[in-house]
Amino acid sequence: MTAISEGETVLALDLGGTKLLIGEVDGEGRILSSKRYPSGPLTQRQAVDLIYASLDDYLETTDLIGREPAAMGVGLVGLVEAAAGRWLMIDPGRKEEIPLAGLLEQRYGYPCRIENDVKAVALAEQRFGSCKEVEDFIYINIGTGIAAGIVAGGRLLRGWQNDSGEVGHMTVDYTGNTPCVCGRFGCAEAIASGGGMDRRLRLLGQRYPDSPLLTLAAKGFVPAEQLFAQAEAGDPLAAKIVTDAADAAAELILNLVRVSNPELVVLGGGVADSAWMRRELPKRLKLPVMESVRRGLTFTTLNPASAGLIGAAAVALKG
Ligand SMILES: [Zn+2]
Repeated sequence: MTAISEGETVLALDLGGTKLLIGEVDGEGRILSSKRYPSGPLTQRQAVDLIYASLDDYLETTDLIGREPAAMGVGLVGLVEAAAGRWLMIDPGRKEEIPLAGLLEQRYGYPCRIENDVKAVALAEQRFGSCKEVEDFIYINIGTGIAAGIVAGGRLLRGWQNDSGEVGHMTVDYTGNTPCVCGRFGCAEAIASGGGMDRRLRLLGQRYPDSPLLTLAAKGFVPAEQLFAQAEAGDPLAAKIVTDAADAAAELILNLVRVSNPELVVLGGGVADSAWMRRELPKRLKLPVMESVRRGLTFTTLNPASAGLIGAAAVALKG
């Protein structure tokens, strides 16, 4: 890992589906300043242009608190070849090999590293979060989608294509008929993610014609917090969707524990971090397999609004 000296900072960039966050972070993972720029469903080229324009603005309008930043780190959606600094794709429909780390180094003059956003948060858990003393852990992000960063023997599992951790596409209900975007049925992401729950609302809706959720669904995407709230209020359609989601998430966790024998499982992401999941998931994990996880299941202590930014800082500091 890169050690930075007292007073030095790094520049961190977290590109998400709706926003680009840019911030200055110190060696302890504290955000000294940050600024938010709107993003959207962009191609990779458009995203690079957004990063340039936003970073130019940030450096022009924000006084750096440290001396010159020691490095720059970027967390990105999709597939990232971290060692070569190449951003390979957002999804199969948006696929272009971009040497982003090199481009940013040339333009701004700071050493730059890039990483997949979920893997970046796993590195932040390792450096600043719940996993500082832990060699073997799994960070699972349950938000709009599902993915994980698996750390074994202190090293982040990558795979030859850097495509490890796409655990949302592990089947957890092979007898069910919930289709997934990947072409299989019963994937964890199709049942337990925010995107999956919204799709299930539409799939199951005709069986529950009186549910007020159908009016909401007709207007657009229904976020998971609405489903949790309606389930608490007694709506049977919402209750079915969120109960299945907790069951599916629990099966996924139990399966993953069998893969890498972690000491600790850390959950993050907007869906996992809900009061519903915090209450319901642990109940479903009281099984012998979890006894091997000696530090148990925990919810991330990183602030969900800035976990991606801290992740990008951890990438910069990884060196
Ligand atoms: Zn799938």
